[in-house]
Amino acid sequence: MAFTLPPLPYAPNALEPTIDAKTMEIHHGKHHKAYVDNANKALEGTPWADKDPIEVIKSLKDLPDDKRGPVRNNAGGHVNHSLFWSILTAPGKGGSPTGPLADAINASFGSLDAMKEKFSAAAMGRFGSGWAWVCVTNGKLEICSTPNQDNPLMGEAIAGCGGTPILGLDVWEHAYYLNYQNRRADYAAAFWTVVNWSAVAENYAKAKG
Ligand code: MN
Repeated sequence: MAFTLPPLPYAPNALEPTIDAKTMEIHHGKHHKAYVDNANKALEGTPWADKDPIEVIKSLKDLPDDKRGPVRNNAGGHVNHSLFWSILTAPGKGGSPTGPLADAINASFGSLDAMKEKFSAAAMGRFGSGWAWVCVTNGKLEICSTPNQDNPLMGEAIAGCGGTPILGLDVWEHAYYLNYQNRRADYAAAFWTVVNWSAVAENYAKAKG
């Protein structure tokens, strides 16, 4: 079965004022949809068309040369945005890290504030378009960033860092320009008000295995 655009798990205006409804509508309905459509076009008629998108981006090296670029960008975009929507919730509703996730944050970074600081630095340090991530890597939490629609699951050789992402921030201008214009730092700081920590904790539990 071809990839499908997952519905947003909340209304487009649910994240206001942190992320405005218009941005969400365009970001999900146009940008994410285009990644899905273009990934399907690239994979049509190949053995990868019926695979889980996560399995596809983990096996880019096995793809034919003429498919690898479009699939890296578009299946990558599909996986990245699917994770992004799932770890967001209305401002003030996301709680805070608890249990094993809180323990892992403290063990890996010292504190939640220290993790946020390092994450913001990764988001700000990404020149042009890309993502900042918190990943589970060898049982520990690590922060990294990737260019374009690369995902750490593609492996370090391709994406520049590895691990299993449990939280990600889209730092493409299309994610914030209407509301924040060039102020990526403000967007990255406001992001924490809409993080759904129980969703991140679930991702952590799955990634930890
Ligand atoms: Mn995006």
